[in-house]
Amino acid sequence: MDLGIAGKWAIVCAGSRGLGRGCAEALAEEGVSLVLNARSPGPLEEAAAAIRARGVEVRTVACDITTDAGRAAVVAACPEPDILITNAGGPPPGMWSDWGRAEWQAAIEANMLTPILLMTALLPGMCERGWGRVVNITSQSVRAPIPQLGLSNAARAGLTGFVAGTARQVAARGVIINNLLPGIHATDRADALDRPLAEREGITLEEARARRAATIPAGRYGTAGEFGRVCAFLCSQHVGFIVGQNILIDGGATNLTL
Ligand code: NAP
Repeated sequence: MDLGIAGKWAIVCAGSRGLGRGCAEALAEEGVSLVLNARSPGPLEEAAAAIRARGVEVRTVACDITTDAGRAAVVAACPEPDILITNAGGPPPGMWSDWGRAEWQAAIEANMLTPILLMTALLPGMCERGWGRVVNITSQSVRAPIPQLGLSNAARAGLTGFVAGTARQVAARGVIINNLLPGIHATDRADALDRPLAEREGITLEEARARRAATIPAGRYGTAGEFGRVCAFLCSQHVGFIVGQNILIDGGATNLTL
């Protein structure tokens, strides 16, 4: 299927590794040029070089996307993108009683306000030009809470509420916003959550992975590649009637009928 987006420009936030990288690779495969962001310049430049080999242009902006200055730098590198993929690192696990104002502020900045403020900056131009696609990488925790990820459950719920209303306000202008909800994928983030489990239970990292994989009906972790391709489809010409949805990619892990 031709996604019909060759020649377009996308901003991909937090895209040097993991799910963001998967989205960047899949968009590049479709002929989309990129502004790629992450904090560490080395891995960012390595990712950009690998993606350029697919024949698209890639500009890099090494900065913390959760700051005003970081978002301004990314927007300045591509003030009129056709596509926006929002993403940032996930908050740490813990107990509700562990977290005070500073931890809440950080989670809300990263996983709620950062995507909201990027959309606020870029939606007006997309509406004026009559075409745009936004995909926010959120989490399965939006559909069913993960108790030890309370910061994520709460901050991402705020973003989900914003998207639910806003997506319906811009759809008639040709601007389509949806959220992608990853379940467990084989990335550094999954390792960061598996490691404490391994330490707590006195088992190896491989055993911890196997235990978590056994809780997923598909029997395995997802891959950044398959996640990226679904993201690219949600950025395509074919999704003009998919508005404000929350699409789970979790191997069936979230036990829901609807
Ligand atoms: P990952 O493998 O740890 O990759 C994170 C990427 O984001 C890296 O490129 C990292 O590069 C960049 N990054 C992190 N914080 C950043 C910031 N403040 N500014 C700019 N770039 C930043 O993570 P992932 O697994 O792809 O997860 C992506 C998102 O999906 C996270 O919010 C995570 O919580 C969520 N999620 C993941 C899973 C999963 O199983 N993987 C499941 C549910 C939800 P630098 O470190 O160089 O900045």
